[in-house]
Amino acid sequence: MNKQDKIYVAGHNGMVGSAIVRHLRSLGFTNLLLASSAELDLRNQAAVQHFFEQNHPDLVFLAAAKVGGIHANNIYRAEFIYDNLAIELNVIDAAYKSKVKKLLFLGSSCIYPKNAPQPMNEDLLLSGFLEQTNEPYAIAKIAGIKLCEAYRDQYGCNFISAMPTNLYGPNDNYHLEHSHVLPALLRKFHDAKLNGDTSVEVWGTGNPKREFLHVDDLASACVFMMENYNEKQFLNIGFGEDISIADLAKLIMNITGYSGSIQFNTTKPDGTYRKLLDSSRLHALNWKAKIELEEGIRNTYQDFLRGLEQQVLSSR
Ligand code: GDP
Repeated sequence: MNKQDKIYVAGHNGMVGSAIVRHLRSLGFTNLLLASSAELDLRNQAAVQHFFEQNHPDLVFLAAAKVGGIHANNIYRAEFIYDNLAIELNVIDAAYKSKVKKLLFLGSSCIYPKNAPQPMNEDLLLSGFLEQTNEPYAIAKIAGIKLCEAYRDQYGCNFISAMPTNLYGPNDNYHLEHSHVLPALLRKFHDAKLNGDTSVEVWGTGNPKREFLHVDDLASACVFMMENYNEKQFLNIGFGEDISIADLAKLIMNITGYSGSIQFNTTKPDGTYRKLLDSSRLHALNWKAKIELEEGIRNTYQDFLRGLEQQVLSSR
């Protein structure tokens, strides 16, 4: 990567894209090409082709996606497969046609089979059935990997893919129904503390385990791969340890200072029991996550509180 390179970060207003932009700026990359979804609808093929023809980026981080937690994935099944496939098809093909030097596609750990042995290494892709709640999203993300591989095979494009584990951090979505577990619980425990509620509902049994990576660590891994990695094989990006949802709830309860009790609602789905990534391929290249879970949740909670303050100020 050169400091003069024109770098397009697709999805720069999202949690992942905004972290990549922060990280690039901190490293002195200033020639960034950014377009909000209102300015450029990535599902519109003609608009995406036109954008690439006009702007000719050198490098692309494809961090734009329709994302959500277990409930949203399950309810908006058509949107999750259609929007993600359309974004990937349009951006990857436009990047090829406008001779982008390198593209990094971001997938997700839900591409792996529901009952995959743990920790999951990259070779387990397409070795079994997917988890039902997020199958449409997973199929779209698998298609993204295969697009990058096929464009490399047929056209020689240097398109690489990264599969991050569950992410959290600044700019997350705190919607009570549609978000992922970590931001949902931060908000639920915070609200319960303010309202003086006696208990907080946590979905499922609390037994499933999840691995959480701070999005600033992910951004550092993405830029590291853009600089150092040129292979067809996609790479997992994980933290290295997982935690049960029950223990995560206790940790968040402590951080928010809530003193009531936790109630598990077992009518809600647990989803996959475990999805810990084996990130040894990336570790062998000398990249490792740095932000410990408790420290990461504490700084995310501060960001959440700042967001609330800003909402109050802007409503005045
Ligand atoms: P997943 O990793 O794709 O299954 O997505 P989530 O982050 O949405 O959910 C992870 C786990 O946390 C599942 O077992 C959920 O049932 C559980 N969970 C517990 N409470 C909540 C909550 O308030 N919101 C969400 N999204 N998940 C929750």
